[in-house]
Amino acid sequence: MNTELSLLQRIETSWTKAHDVALFLKRDDLIHAEVSGNKWRKLKYFFEQFQQHKSAGILTFGGAFSNHLVATASFCHSKGIRSIGIVRGEELNASSNESLRFCADRGMDLHFISREEYAMKDDRSFKEHLLDRFPNFYQIPEGGAAYLGMLGCQEIIPEIRKEIDFDAIFVAQGTTTTSCGLALACREEELHVVPVLKGFDAKSEMANLLSRSAFDTTFIHDLLEDVNVHLGFDFGGYAQVDEELLNFIRTFYLETNVSLDPVYTAKTMFALRAAVLQGKFSHRTVVFLHTGGVQGAKSYSDKYGELYPMA
Ligand SMILES: *Cc1c(COP(=O)(O)O)cnc(C)c1O
Repeated sequence: MNTELSLLQRIETSWTKAHDVALFLKRDDLIHAEVSGNKWRKLKYFFEQFQQHKSAGILTFGGAFSNHLVATASFCHSKGIRSIGIVRGEELNASSNESLRFCADRGMDLHFISREEYAMKDDRSFKEHLLDRFPNFYQIPEGGAAYLGMLGCQEIIPEIRKEIDFDAIFVAQGTTTTSCGLALACREEELHVVPVLKGFDAKSEMANLLSRSAFDTTFIHDLLEDVNVHLGFDFGGYAQVDEELLNFIRTFYLETNVSLDPVYTAKTMFALRAAVLQGKFSHRTVVFLHTGGVQGAKSYSDKYGELYPMA
């Protein structure tokens, strides 16, 4: 695993200049060429624990386009570890899309189950059933959504502090694992989260994950009280896009030379820009955590035209 710090990069756009905002990108997208950066952060301590357990291999879960499955397959392949992916959707197969093809190419053994079965994946009885079927495989929850996943993401904040003082950090939310890790590490800094799922109750999702990790209710309440949730930037729901978002990705790329992915980081940057345009961060320093995902953008370019045009 690449343990180097990711780059912290200052960028300027027409709107950061107009509102006098110092905007920095924490380039976790550059941690690895093939997989989303935050997936490496989330997997780090699971892999350490796996190595101590001397299990037969790693088993994990994901949907059809899961960046988490891709990251797990890639890591296991590079380390010669056997991997099993339990995929939501019995109608799928290893050539249904590029993400699944990638996993299969990297030697991941894919098993497709129904949505009903998948919904039970965190139940004790289903986990035991999997252990019977795949004896001695170390199980990592979907999206690395557990304490060890948050622990890896906590490390992002001290890395940034080493370089700059900052007032706020923005991050996309799927399982909320990354944002919970940041919440645990932030002190004076404001945490701003942008859910990419429709009708997502960010704070209660974060509270669920934290309480499953044995944090107590009062601690969780205090921790989440000051989290800023930016609603209305799901663009219709998970993986949904419209022309406005696609054009935002193109313009942002032309201005900064940084690629945003349509599923997570573009929606988050769009929310950040909206806050900047309202004057919320004038004369302040804001960090945007670039969680990656750009490797999955190709299917959008194929469908909607180039997202990262040459100037
Ligand atoms: C998975 C993913 C996220 C969401 O992270 P969570 O920890 O699940 O909230 C954000 N950005 C990218 C690019 C991702 O792949």
